[in-house]
Amino acid sequence: MKIVKPSATLLWITPDAEKMIERAGRVAYKSEDLITEGSAGKFIHMIIEKGHEAVIEHASASILFVCDRGVTHEMVRHRIASYVQESTRYCNYGKEKFGKEITVIQPPFDTEEQVRNWTNAMRISESAYLTLIDASCKPQIARSVLPTCLKTEIIMTANFREWRHFFKLRTAPAAHPQMREIAKMAAALLVPHAPTVFADFIPF
Ligand SMILES: Cc1cc2nc3c(=O)[nH]c(=O)nc-3n(C[C@H](O)[C@H](O)[C@H](O)COP(=O)(O)OP(=O)(O)OC[C@H]3O[C@@H](n4cnc5c(N)ncnc54)[C@H](O)[C@@H]3O)c2cc1C
Repeated sequence: MKIVKPSATLLWITPDAEKMIERAGRVAYKSEDLITEGSAGKFIHMIIEKGHEAVIEHASASILFVCDRGVTHEMVRHRIASYVQESTRYCNYGKEKFGKEITVIQPPFDTEEQVRNWTNAMRISESAYLTLIDASCKPQIARSVLPTCLKTEIIMTANFREWRHFFKLRTAPAAHPQMREIAKMAAALLVPHAPTVFADFIPF
């Protein structure tokens, strides 16, 4: 059994995202003549203040998350985004390429005893899965004994309006701690590219 840390990697973002949003938004006012090197920030601030968030849909980003599978059950409830996720139907963790072991994300436990109990449960789960696979069980059936904290990879692609909505809900104190953790990682990736759009999420 392997334990890995959650992570977020920016795969793609609209180039010069804030300039693109300004270019699009100024069509409404026919004020393209006011575009200067530093005008995008002020314009986007005004757009967001007025609630004209449809304009910021003209930029988007794709982020690859490595995280707990349970966290992704919450993530995919965000319907305006697009996803591709590692499949427990098609990936056979009994194969050499996966090291013949399962990979998990350790939750933030408070005590050593909790960690020990969890580690025992993970080993039992792994053993049950590999035994089923050895007995010619298909991964899509054997997966029923895998834990919620199985490591998964998921790509989330969304426009900036949806990312803002995601960050608002998922960096808030009410969000699950492991969801907050990766939502903050994602916000930190987008802020340097679009500091005005994501200003509300500095420093989270
Ligand atoms: C702290 C927390 C606890 C939660 N607990 C639970 C829980 O116990 N059980 C549970 O089932 N879920 C729970 N959720 C999930 C929650 O109910 C939403 O499904 C999830 O947050 C996605 O929110 P959303 O629909 O606003 O976002 P998105 O799907 O990303 O949509 C973005 C926005 O687009 C608009 N939109 C999208 N689809 C429609 C539509 N069909 N009609 C009209 N407008 C639309 C809305 O304005 C929406 O806010 C929880 C979420 C949070 C943050």
